[in-house]
Amino acid sequence: MLRFIILFYLFYHSSVCKAQLIRIGLYNSQKIKTAKFSLKNGAYFIFSDTNLITKVNVPDLILLNVKNNDVELLINGVTTASSSNFSFISEKNDNFLETKLISPTLKARLYEGDFIVTNRKGNLEILNEIDLEQYLEGVIESEAGPGQKTEYYKVQAIISRTYAMKYKEKHGSSGFNLCDGTHCQAYLHKRNQSEWIDSAVRKTRGMVLLDKQGELAPTYFNANCGGQTCEPDIVWNQKIAGFSSFKDTFCIHTNQAKWTKKIPVNDWNSFLNEKYNYPIWDSTCLIQAHTFSQLDRKAFFVSPIFGIPLRDIRDAFKLKSTYFSCKREGDFIILNGHGFGHGVGLCQEGAMNMVKFGYKYEQVLNFYYPEMKLFQMPISSFSLRK
Ligand SMILES: [Zn+2]
Ligand SMILES: [Zn+2]
Repeated sequence: MLRFIILFYLFYHSSVCKAQLIRIGLYNSQKIKTAKFSLKNGAYFIFSDTNLITKVNVPDLILLNVKNNDVELLINGVTTASSSNFSFISEKNDNFLETKLISPTLKARLYEGDFIVTNRKGNLEILNEIDLEQYLEGVIESEAGPGQKTEYYKVQAIISRTYAMKYKEKHGSSGFNLCDGTHCQAYLHKRNQSEWIDSAVRKTRGMVLLDKQGELAPTYFNANCGGQTCEPDIVWNQKIAGFSSFKDTFCIHTNQAKWTKKIPVNDWNSFLNEKYNYPIWDSTCLIQAHTFSQLDRKAFFVSPIFGIPLRDIRDAFKLKSTYFSCKREGDFIILNGHGFGHGVGLCQEGAMNMVKFGYKYEQVLNFYYPEMKLFQMPISSFSLRK
């Protein structure tokens, strides 16, 4: 009977309420051997395939170990089962648990939703299946930090929802939608139920950005563009419709608007010469390499004829951006740079300032994504599942 109730419950859980679910690969870059789940709120049903193993409640502790080709499950120190996979299905929508990696050791995190733990080629794979809108609340705080105004969180909610829906097949070949890192979108904890974030997600529920073809738009964003946004081909060597470079005065007086870096002149010269055959023996070229200047953003160092993309210099010297000028001081090259990040699309610090000046989220999106249109998807498919 219990099994029947649970199966009915699962069916109701997943289909009747038409919630948009998303599956996130947690700790995707780690090779996990042991993980611990500590229940913090509510209860979870544990299944091995479709077989109900048991129900756990607060404050139960669950240890998951890689064991041969299986996952070994220990509950409160007692070995309970071994299986290729376990599912943890939450009893209620606001149930949550703490995930902590023991091997390798990583800081604990809190997550809501359901979990699937599988032995994937000798490592644990931990997936979190959760309502899209609930996931977004965790993402928005991970990406934008706490303490922003609701109007800014609305901007971030629309960008992150569009991203999640557009790229939901990004990890499709691995059996989940998105990972929890910057490769997709940072999702480092559950929603904190901050009233500002909660209301931002609720008030924009189902809202996305579309490109001119009516497809979900690529909603690139960066921490600070340094006063001029960047064309995508400078960063990724490919044109992406809908993005152009323009001046942004909203971000130029913020903390990350300017940076400097000191590089030994010998390191600078040898990098240019050894990697790109730059003619440092020519005194004019050498001076140009020490006095390179960008009033407007450029794609190449000194001149395109030398074929040195600024993105290569950024990578090699771990610079905050490609938007820098240089001068020589003694044995050093001093780089004076602007901004933080690739500079394409929405500038987060500029957008935060627009909101402080009283602009509405529609105006902020229109400023940074002038070729994209806001679109309201049917709201019924974005309601929370319980
Ligand atoms: Zn990813
Ligand atoms: Zn900016």
